[in-house]
Amino acid sequence: MPELPEVETIIREMREANLEGRTIEKAHIFWERSIAVPSPSAFCKKIARQKILHINRRGKFLVFTLSEDTLLIHLRMTGKFLIAKKTDPITHSHERVRLYLDDGRILRYEDQRKFGKWNLVSNPQEYLNQLGIEPLSVDFTLTAFKALLKGHQRQIKPFLLDQHFVAGLGNIYVDEALWVAKIHPLRRVSTLTQKETEALHNAIPLVLQNGIKNTGTSLGAARANYFSISGRRGTNQNQLNVFRKDGLPCPRCQTIIQKITVGQRGSHFCPTCQVF
Ligand SMILES: [Zn+2]
Repeated sequence: MPELPEVETIIREMREANLEGRTIEKAHIFWERSIAVPSPSAFCKKIARQKILHINRRGKFLVFTLSEDTLLIHLRMTGKFLIAKKTDPITHSHERVRLYLDDGRILRYEDQRKFGKWNLVSNPQEYLNQLGIEPLSVDFTLTAFKALLKGHQRQIKPFLLDQHFVAGLGNIYVDEALWVAKIHPLRRVSTLTQKETEALHNAIPLVLQNGIKNTGTSLGAARANYFSISGRRGTNQNQLNVFRKDGLPCPRCQTIIQKITVGQRGSHFCPTCQVF
């Protein structure tokens, strides 16, 4: 699933490809349920002739500020974008939506698992205000992080996956951050020491920045779960310390990495570095 670094990489490539400033001439929908709001026919009608003013990210959402409305896209499991020329062949088995741009290019949206959702709205804050703090923003101070953690009895891993507290983290980067901070994924939030809280507050931006520097994590062999819009794989999968490394030695202490299920998610940790 694309997490903050993967979405950020996509956004940056979209800007580099000069999608900002282009006008959407029309949309074509291949899979109606990719459009959550409004109805697919209203979507096509509304988005036509709107200009793309800015492309940003909030949590794992792509935020397209258009001349009239805002387009919010969540890629979920397998959503991905590609830029094609008008002359490119039109049949792609997983293609769900395409936007025709005024310079002849086509922004194609593919989604093998079909969980991704598009929302064309006039009130983006109603969606985005539900998201927690941006971990790479100046707002993510130690004081703010401590205030978020305060009084919570939940296990730290599900807490960090909950987008209402910190926005943008998913399974990969939570496992990596907990390993860096030496915190077991099952630890209760309320039991974290001052030192552990500080370590985690440092680890979260660190693993995300590394992910961005490496243009995201592409898991899987032939059909990776994540490609950038230029069709490139990320390289962060080569730098992971624990995620999907079960059975391999911990890079810090050589203990064999273990995998357990936490809140229905496979979680990877070092039993020596991350004592429960
Ligand atoms: Zn270890």
